[in-house]
Amino acid sequence: MGSGLYANSAAAGTHEGVDLLLRIQPAIKSYPFDNTINRAELVPVMEAISRGYTHIATDSLSTLYQVKKIAHQPQAMNEHRHLLLHKKIAELILEKNQPIHIYKVKSHIGIVGNEIADELATSVAKGTETPNIHIQDDSNPHESQYWPYHTQDTPDHADAPTRPQPLTDLDASLRKLCHNMYHMGTANTATTYYAAAQKAAALIDMPASNKFLTSRTVTPYETTNVLKLRCGNLYNNKLAHRYGRSTTSKCPLCRQPDGGYHLASGCPALSEAYIERHHATGMYILKAIKGGRLGSTVVQADVGSNDKRTTEGLPDLPTSVPNNILPPSMIAEYEQADNDKPDSRPDITLYWTEKSHGLLKRHYTFVEIKYCVDTKPQEQQANAEEQHKGLIQMIQKHDVNAEVRLVVILLGTAGYIYEDYTKKQLQEYLGVDAHALKSLVTNLHLQSVNPLMAKVLI
Ligand SMILES: [Zn+2]
Repeated sequence: MGSGLYANSAAAGTHEGVDLLLRIQPAIKSYPFDNTINRAELVPVMEAISRGYTHIATDSLSTLYQVKKIAHQPQAMNEHRHLLLHKKIAELILEKNQPIHIYKVKSHIGIVGNEIADELATSVAKGTETPNIHIQDDSNPHESQYWPYHTQDTPDHADAPTRPQPLTDLDASLRKLCHNMYHMGTANTATTYYAAAQKAAALIDMPASNKFLTSRTVTPYETTNVLKLRCGNLYNNKLAHRYGRSTTSKCPLCRQPDGGYHLASGCPALSEAYIERHHATGMYILKAIKGGRLGSTVVQADVGSNDKRTTEGLPDLPTSVPNNILPPSMIAEYEQADNDKPDSRPDITLYWTEKSHGLLKRHYTFVEIKYCVDTKPQEQQANAEEQHKGLIQMIQKHDVNAEVRLVVILLGTAGYIYEDYTKKQLQEYLGVDAHALKSLVTNLHLQSVNPLMAKVLI
């Protein structure tokens, strides 16, 4: 860039017939971003005023407006890139005790002074002549402020030279840049994990299932682990073996085949942590049912301890299905079965009766809460049905009028909440209203994510 200042001999006051021909180098090194055309136009005006000229012509209309604005509305110029130059010009004008006239002239129409100034500027810009002066004043008051920029080629302009590009904002444009840098959106989609996730997507309540990404109670480390588990990258012996870092692909704790889901929900050595998680989850659900329209029908709960339930303000409840709600003829048979297989107790039982045509009609709702591989809830659904088949068939055998329903509540091990397998069951069959359901599923989601990462994986 270059600037030129011309004054004829009369204006220059030399009286010897010598014109002033000033070649100005206005570029500054400290902050090259500010080497703009605007700066190149402002600098000679500043120089002319400081040399005592009172009638100055420029072909830059914007310079004219800017000088006017800094004098009349300085507050409107606070954010201007060349504020320091403007202020200097304003100060110089104030110092002079006479009016300064600045004129706008058309360029390239043969106005002699303007053409000469233009030539002076061009000679500096092209480097054909050495500048007489070099004006180094900073023009930008924001020089000390920082803003991120990138030098990445955009795909559309791959051949264009790379130069720093300030980000237009710290939200969408930063995200876009990171996506490109980390090749997001270009992941290998020919994997079983991807196919399974795509297939399961329709079953999942995505906003509820992804709360961990924005929750303040989940640490970045935990967030990373959940994402790894979902994508099959959670480090375990299966992967270590595949990468040649372990001699075995078996779990170091139980010697069964290792894997992300083995760690998260299948390792016998970690069963205590899973049981604790199950109890905590069951407590949330029990509390929500008790607060709903079917709250008074809860007669049994095998989740949490009675101590914990008392602190949560819940009543004492038996852990196995109480005899007094069963058809009397099946009590002995049930006691034997319950003794043989205490694992097959429902997590929660709801029970009520009604009189219909003079007959007592028993309504049973058995609740089973299960964690499942996030993309395969159907497997655990089938397991739950199998688990409670005996009890349901026994009741139906002894009381053909009884209405027996099994409600299976499924939660994904990596925090997935399902539309049908989780929410619909709670709302339709267990009487949890829409408002309570919203906070319940958030709690269930974080409950799946937090203890898993805190107790199992760290
Ligand atoms: Zn194991």
